[in-house]
Order: sequence, then C-alpha cells, then structure tokens
Amino acid sequence: MTSAACAKGEVSKTLASGLYCKSCGKRFELSVRSACDECFAPVEVRYDEASVAERLTKQSVSHGPQNIWRYWPLLPVSLSEGIKGTNPGMTPLRECQNLASELGVKRVLVKDDTVNPTYSFKDRPVATSLPKAIEFGLKGVGCASTGNLAGATAASAAKYRVPCYVLIPQGLEKNKVLSASAYGATVIEVKGTYDTANRLANLIADRYSVGFVNVNLRPYYVEGSKTLAMEVVEQLGWQEPDRMIVPMGSGALLTAVGKGISELSMYGLSSGSCMISGTQPEGCSPISSAYETGEVLPVEKPKTVAESLAIGDPASGDEALGVIRGSGGFADAPTDSEIVEGQLLLAREEGIFTEPAGGTVIASLRRKIDDGTIRRDETVVCLITGNGLKVPSHLESSIRTSVVGPDLREVEQVFRSGL
Ligand SMILES: *Cc1c(COP(=O)(O)O)cnc(C)c1O
Ligand SMILES: [Zn+2]
Repeated sequence: MTSAACAKGEVSKTLASGLYCKSCGKRFELSVRSACDECFAPVEVRYDEASVAERLTKQSVSHGPQNIWRYWPLLPVSLSEGIKGTNPGMTPLRECQNLASELGVKRVLVKDDTVNPTYSFKDRPVATSLPKAIEFGLKGVGCASTGNLAGATAASAAKYRVPCYVLIPQGLEKNKVLSASAYGATVIEVKGTYDTANRLANLIADRYSVGFVNVNLRPYYVEGSKTLAMEVVEQLGWQEPDRMIVPMGSGALLTAVGKGISELSMYGLSSGSCMISGTQPEGCSPISSAYETGEVLPVEKPKTVAESLAIGDPASGDEALGVIRGSGGFADAPTDSEIVEGQLLLAREEGIFTEPAGGTVIASLRRKIDDGTIRRDETVVCLITGNGLKVPSHLESSIRTSVVGPDLREVEQVFRSGL
C-alpha cells in the first residue's frame, strides 16, 4: 500500500466527484441514478482530476493490493469499504504461443478472468456497485442476470451481509443457478427471456428500496469492469496491445474497456491507442448487426449456446458501438458451431477452459485473422470472461472417453492407438 493511500482519512473516501450526463453534461450527486433527468442519456462517474493525478502513478498502482483496489483512485468506492468484498482482479494475462502459431498471428494473450472469485469477470462490476447500495442506505441488493452476474452479486452480498434477490430467465445452466442459491440469494426464475427479467428488475428497483447493480446502480457497475482493461495495460508493462477482443451482451463491458483505456491515457499511464473489437453470437447480435446497419434493433428471441451473451435489448448497445467505431475496431458475430470450436480450441491449445462467451471471442479471433482484418503482426488480447466448468451440458456430445475392464491389455490397446 502506498503512503498516500495510508494517509489519515484517505482510505475512507472516494475521489469520485459526481455523476455526469454523457450527453448534456449535467452533474448529479453520487446517488442511485442511471440516467439524466433532462435528456434521459446514461450518466457516468467522473473523478476529481487533480486528486487522481496526484495519487495514480505507475508506482502507486504496482505497490497496491493484488486486486482491483490497486486502482482505487479511479473507482467510486472507498478503499476501506471496497476491500471488505470478494476482492476480484489481477487475474493472469497468459501468453498463448500455441494458439498464435496455430492461427498464424504474431502474439495472442488471454486475460484469464475465469479465475475470479466466482469464476467470471462479473465479480469486478459487482465489487464497485454493491457497496454503493449499502452506502446509499438501501435495504437489499440484486440484479437481472444471464447467469454469471447472479453468482457474483450473491457472493458479494454474502460478504457484506445484505439480502440479495436475483432475477434470471428460467432454464439457465444449472450450475449458475445452483451457485447463486448456495451463496444464499433469493433466486427468482422468470418465465421469459433475460429482457423480461430485466424489465421486472427495473420495476422492482423503482418500487422497493433495492440496489440492482446493473439497473439503478449501473454507473458504478461499469467502473469495476474497466479494471479489466487497465490490468491488461499494466501487465504489458504499461503498453496497450494493438487490439482487444471483447464479448458483448448488454455492451457494458466493452463500454467500460473504452473508459478504462481513455482514463489511463488521460493520466499519462498509456497512449490510448488500442483497437477495441466486439463480438456477439450470431443468434443474438443486435450490436454487431448495428455496426453494419447503424441502428441497434432488439432481438425478440435470442437463440444461442452463449447464454451469458443472450441479451436481445442491450442497455449499452449504442455506447459500445461508439467505442468500437471510435477506436477502429471490428464487430463480429460467429455461429454457435464456431463458438464451440473456439471454446475447444482454447482448451486444447492453451489449457484454458472457458464458457461459450469466451469461445465467441476465440471464434472471432480466428475469423478475423482468416479474412485479413487482424494483421499477422498484431498483438491481440482476448478477454476470456467466464469459466467453462459452470457451463458443461452443451459439450456432453463432444466428450471422448475409453471405457476398459480392469485389464492391462485393454488399457494397452487404448494407449497404443493414441501414440
Ligand atoms: C455478462 C457477460 C459478458 C458480457 O457483458 P456485458 O457487459 O453484458 O456486455 C461477457 N462474458 C461473460 C462470461 C459474461 O458473463
Ligand atoms: Zn443530460
């Protein structure tokens, strides 16, 4: 910990200065709010620039905690409150030489967020939004989730000892429902899509005193996700990769990656010149389609193996599109079979087992190298955001085992055929 961070009183306050409308710039106090009351555009957290500049240096970050709180000057929660949570972050940035040479590109790295406390990147946005609910005096917390957010919110609620309500579409992968329930949350399965669950969460958030991390606390939520990009830059020795490939559901993660990169460059910690590319499954690709057509049109009935990304009406779609275009990135939409191939490719080449959301990223990496969009001399970082162990069922048909009797010769037969 830096001496600056230890100065008296320092750890118990945030340097966030308010919420600001992204469109008209109107300022609001830090409060429960996701949109501007004048123009209805989303609001975002901004910070006291002079205070951040004084405290955020390469050295202060590298001496900070081994989790997202090393970036506390650019997070909306005080350090002393933040570290009472699940403390995600500083996940490995893995060199993937096997994958790079298989696909014919100079350098591929995986930012491995499969090893966060609840095995997805969602622990990051929860870490910076859930404690705000407590600070604002709300009586409970919750989320609308495609799966991973349910577990992350529930685990963090357990740490902070607050009641938790998660709304999910009925029929999600069992392990995700099971873990959210094991962490003690009230799990509400809605007969409908994610978008139905999300609409209900919006109504409940208005009516009851509950902080829904990705609804009425959304500006704080985005702040946690930006640490994913900041860590990548730090782990590359304060250099940006040529490109990052980001999976998109609501588009919040990609928007946060853009904010993280531009804030680092604002404080002189990077050059701000990374192409940010987004990918969605073909069966639910409202943002990627809008990259071609110009307009984000909701998908009524998402149909994809990548459940985590099955958001038909993306809340941050336009913002994500703006970040992709502004940085010169691509938007892509691989098919389900390419997604599963991508998942297995990463497992077999690099020993990293991701869920289909990560397979979507690897599928786009392959497609865009093949069509020449990604140059062969690029350094590409793939954001691998969720763990495959939570989502096993669609891979059952690709399991290959050999069943033998308790007999040496039978084992030898299998053994020789593999050599
Ligand atoms: C939620 C999620 C995403 C997408 O995040 P958005 O912010 O909704 O775009 C990507 N990968 C995984 C594994 C997720 O759980
Ligand atoms: Zn406004």
